Amino acid sequence: MERLPKAPKPDVQSKFYRAYRVMAGVTRIMGYGGENCYLIEGSERALLVDGLAGVGSLKAFVRELTDLPVSLALTHGHIDHAGMAWETGECYINPDDIALLYTRMHTDRQARLDYEMGRRSPGDPGNGCPATLADVPPACAVRTYPIYTGDVFDLGGARLEVIQVPGHTCGTVVFLDRARRIVFSGDACNPNTLLNLSGSTSIEEYLQSLKFFKTCQDAFDVMYGGHGASPMPNSIIDDGIRLCEDILAGRDDAIETPSRGGMALLALKRGANYMPERGGFCNIVYLRETLRRRPHPVIAGGPNVYR
Ligand SMILES: [Zn+2]
Repeated sequence: MERLPKAPKPDVQSKFYRAYRVMAGVTRIMGYGGENCYLIEGSERALLVDGLAGVGSLKAFVRELTDLPVSLALTHGHIDHAGMAWETGECYINPDDIALLYTRMHTDRQARLDYEMGRRSPGDPGNGCPATLADVPPACAVRTYPIYTGDVFDLGGARLEVIQVPGHTCGTVVFLDRARRIVFSGDACNPNTLLNLSGSTSIEEYLQSLKFFKTCQDAFDVMYGGHGASPMPNSIIDDGIRLCEDILAGRDDAIETPSRGGMALLALKRGANYMPERGGFCNIVYLRETLRRRPHPVIAGGPNVYR
């Protein structure tokens, strides 16, 4: 995971954040824990895709980057993506992830501070993040606006389409920018796709998600994710589909790897560059007991256009 002190020189920097201009109208903001969010600016409004871990004032930092009104939309409800919701008191999120916002890991200020400081265990010296508990806003009731596949954020001259990709969490969504041919993908599909978490779907359901996501594959070239600086090619969807099929057929490497509360399986052996030795970009961490599960009911709203 990328750490703030080792990162290349940012375009804008504050005590807790670094901002990098990705292309005109798109800025990547990185927190100390190595987590990313993205500011997308139209002519009338801006959308912040994800809200880092909620240490320091991301809201004030974003104010330094744009004069436009900014809405917060989450790819999913995890601690390292939803933090700004405690500052704004509102966000767009798929309803299947709302409960995640209120789990103790997220509402506990010390847990968020430990995440951002890179303290994964007691005694861990961390990453040097200069934060204290006073820099962590307390949890609050968040006004949530539901987003589903087909919903559009019309920012004026820029449009972002919502695509649901349940897997990493049941409410995971990605945001497609057809004009720029990019996707903001959070943790939906990457070289360390975690499906071993309590809110993750089965491999079978994730396979269906990726097959649906593939129907949009021609509309973009790369995906910008929630961790790391390098975008992933759209072929990672094909890698993911093949890997899910291999896992279900028992053809993956299934390497035992420590996980919260027990052992999980890493689908493919990593090479020296962290990428799968067999090739491709997608790798998956999963649990043997959640290969197949009855799909949860899909509740579809919209499509809506938010202005
Ligand atoms: Zn996540």
